[in-house]
Amino acid sequence: MKSFAYQKPASAQAAVGMVDPMSAAGQGGAFLAGGTTVLDLMKLHVLTPDSLTDVKTLLPAGIEERDGALYVGAGTTMAAAAEHPAFRDRAPALSDALWKAASPQLRNVATLGGNVLQRTRCPYFRDVASACNKREPGSGCAATEGVNRLLAVLGTSEDCIATYAGDWANALILFDTQVEVTGPEGDRTIAFEDLHTLPGDTPAVETTLGDADLITGYLIDLPDWAWRSVYTKVRDRESYAFAVASAAVALDMEEDTIREARIGLGGVATVPWRARAAEDYLAGKTLTEETGLEAGRIAFADARGWGHNDFKIPLGQQTILRGLMEAAALTREGTQ
Ligand code: SF4
Repeated sequence: MKSFAYQKPASAQAAVGMVDPMSAAGQGGAFLAGGTTVLDLMKLHVLTPDSLTDVKTLLPAGIEERDGALYVGAGTTMAAAAEHPAFRDRAPALSDALWKAASPQLRNVATLGGNVLQRTRCPYFRDVASACNKREPGSGCAATEGVNRLLAVLGTSEDCIATYAGDWANALILFDTQVEVTGPEGDRTIAFEDLHTLPGDTPAVETTLGDADLITGYLIDLPDWAWRSVYTKVRDRESYAFAVASAAVALDMEEDTIREARIGLGGVATVPWRARAAEDYLAGKTLTEETGLEAGRIAFADARGWGHNDFKIPLGQQTILRGLMEAAALTREGTQ
């Protein structure tokens, strides 16, 4: 690992002033909170920052009611949030997605501020000997013609097909969420749906955050029917594995009829993905295997397989059906 300076400011605002923008090549400065992504990538020489600015104890932690919404501090650990009653009882998809992510050790240190910004697991991104437009703009993409079994089929471009790696973001995107950010220009909010950007021809740009912007919290607007929500995750092994395909589903139902459906997809797309056309199709429908499968077909109508990952299209469709059925089976007291 390259030598770097460690600095510990007195406040989040002071931290923002201390961080030099990190270049696409991974130099400059970076924030350190849980450290589960940045230290991992430093050991692989994918990131080689000159300095790390420790914000772990400066970020607000905890979950509380605020202005009619649920406020979540960016310093809240994954483990603390996963077992918090506000998530577990009012929006189980938010809790499920955290329980099904990473290992207990990682969940105990990783924070929700960094969690939504975790980097792709594309093997070529993590191998500095490979061509990768995300790590080294203009160098090419080894994955489009390479081993791409776990890479994306939605939101891809010729320049990058990297899968967004997180779980919680795919559930968070179900709900209207404002991301609270502090930066060199002061404080502002960003709609969560506008946080991540498609790779297009600039895969190194992954979010709408500025170089020295720091996420400090989230304000989540939960509808009163969010208790009927699940996070269904298909993976190669049942523990400590990234999603091959996942579906976050929230349903507002009157008996068997869907008033409103919300579907977030993971493991199949380059960013946290909202399947809005499938949601529109389901509104007013009776949920059956047939309508659930049709929703899956609609959600993947624009998908493109890249060879090894072609199977993700039918798998993703089936994952949506499974998520819909699991959500419909929930009662206020738990699963039927
Ligand atoms: Fe890099 Fe994206 Fe290609 Fe992976 S898919 S090698 S991250 S450019």
